[in-house]
Amino acid sequence: MKYHIISLGCPKNKVDSERFAWVMNSAGWVFSNQPDEADLIILNTCAFIKPATEESLEYLSDIINWKSEKIGRKIILAGCLPGRYSDDGSGGLDDIDLVIGPGHWRKLSSWLGITNQESAQVIGSGSYRYLKIANGCSNGCAFCTIPSIRGKFTANSLDSILSEADLLIQQGAMEIGLVAQDSGNWTQDHTNLTALAEILAKRNPSIWWRLYYLHPLHFPKYLPELFSKYTNIVPYIDMPIQHASDSVLKRMGRKHGVKRIETIMEQLDKAQIDIAVRYTVITGYPGETESDFIKLRDFLGRYKSARHIAAFSWYPEEGTLEYKRTMDKGDAVDDSTASRRLAAISAVGDGLYSNWDLRLEGREVFVLADDKHTGHTKWDAPEVDSVVSFTKSVEPGRIIKVKILESSGAVLMAEPVD
Ligand code: SF4
Repeated sequence: MKYHIISLGCPKNKVDSERFAWVMNSAGWVFSNQPDEADLIILNTCAFIKPATEESLEYLSDIINWKSEKIGRKIILAGCLPGRYSDDGSGGLDDIDLVIGPGHWRKLSSWLGITNQESAQVIGSGSYRYLKIANGCSNGCAFCTIPSIRGKFTANSLDSILSEADLLIQQGAMEIGLVAQDSGNWTQDHTNLTALAEILAKRNPSIWWRLYYLHPLHFPKYLPELFSKYTNIVPYIDMPIQHASDSVLKRMGRKHGVKRIETIMEQLDKAQIDIAVRYTVITGYPGETESDFIKLRDFLGRYKSARHIAAFSWYPEEGTLEYKRTMDKGDAVDDSTASRRLAAISAVGDGLYSNWDLRLEGREVFVLADDKHTGHTKWDAPEVDSVVSFTKSVEPGRIIKVKILESSGAVLMAEPVD
């Protein structure tokens, strides 16, 4: 019997999908890349904001059509849609054979008739992979649905993280991204995220290690020193700051002010090495005044370490504190103002790229080749940031040295030099 998996949303969901794949394989099913060859499809959904929920429902309706084309086909609905909606997200649809919440692989193994499966590993391939170090979040930001979907923050054990890292490397990974909702909050006994990264980097010196989702509230100390000491811990920081106005950060419930982010960025800018920061921000947040917005816009262009901006407009998500509050206050920012502010932020993003373009052109740098023709630098996360395009084909899955010939924002033209 063959199965296919569609994994929507974030890298954490991707790791859950790889665990579902492992369970399916251990029950004797075979993975197929072609949905039409499959007898069963697992749709691992995302539902943290409206567009993601809509996308998940679109996929679901396509898969229900797929099921109707051949007798015996089955559908498993998994992930954050079931995790978020009380009616398990299936909308009571009979077409769905099994509904499992985010990462709930045990429910899958018992449905497959496997008894007492103690643990589930991950199975996958590719030059870069993700390693989930914790689940859930306890920060309770006013706009966020994730704590209601994935529960409170729970750290995975050091041993489980180390053994999963070994498995990903056996499966061919050359880069591993450490992911969680709030990675900086991970600790075990006296080991924090910085120490964990150091352990992993020492154990596997030929592997690139990348840190994702560093909330300023739990931002790890001594990161610049760590990046200087271990060249295989890539000098890259994915930092969802959400905003840079104290009044908006307060309304969001971020539990810190802009001073904390400024201190972090000043520390990074002082470092002797180039560190790239990816900001995630929300604009058009209820109550955001023009001066709040200008504080955000000006902040984003201020530091030389800033390289990427992922900007979103606020979405009124039912079940969040902000949804109710905005309904009561009626102070949502109108759509045209929100779109104007979003456009202004992406213009700042273009400016950041121009700064980095000047710094990268002509330099020889290391790149992980994700396929024969493209790869990514240490300053770019795969799938989301800038892509390196090679002047000639290379061997995929290797870390190679290239010379940056031309850098234009999201695309870097490079010539392999070794
Ligand atoms: S820290 Fe992130 S995941 Fe946690 S509640 Fe805030 S926005 Fe949501």
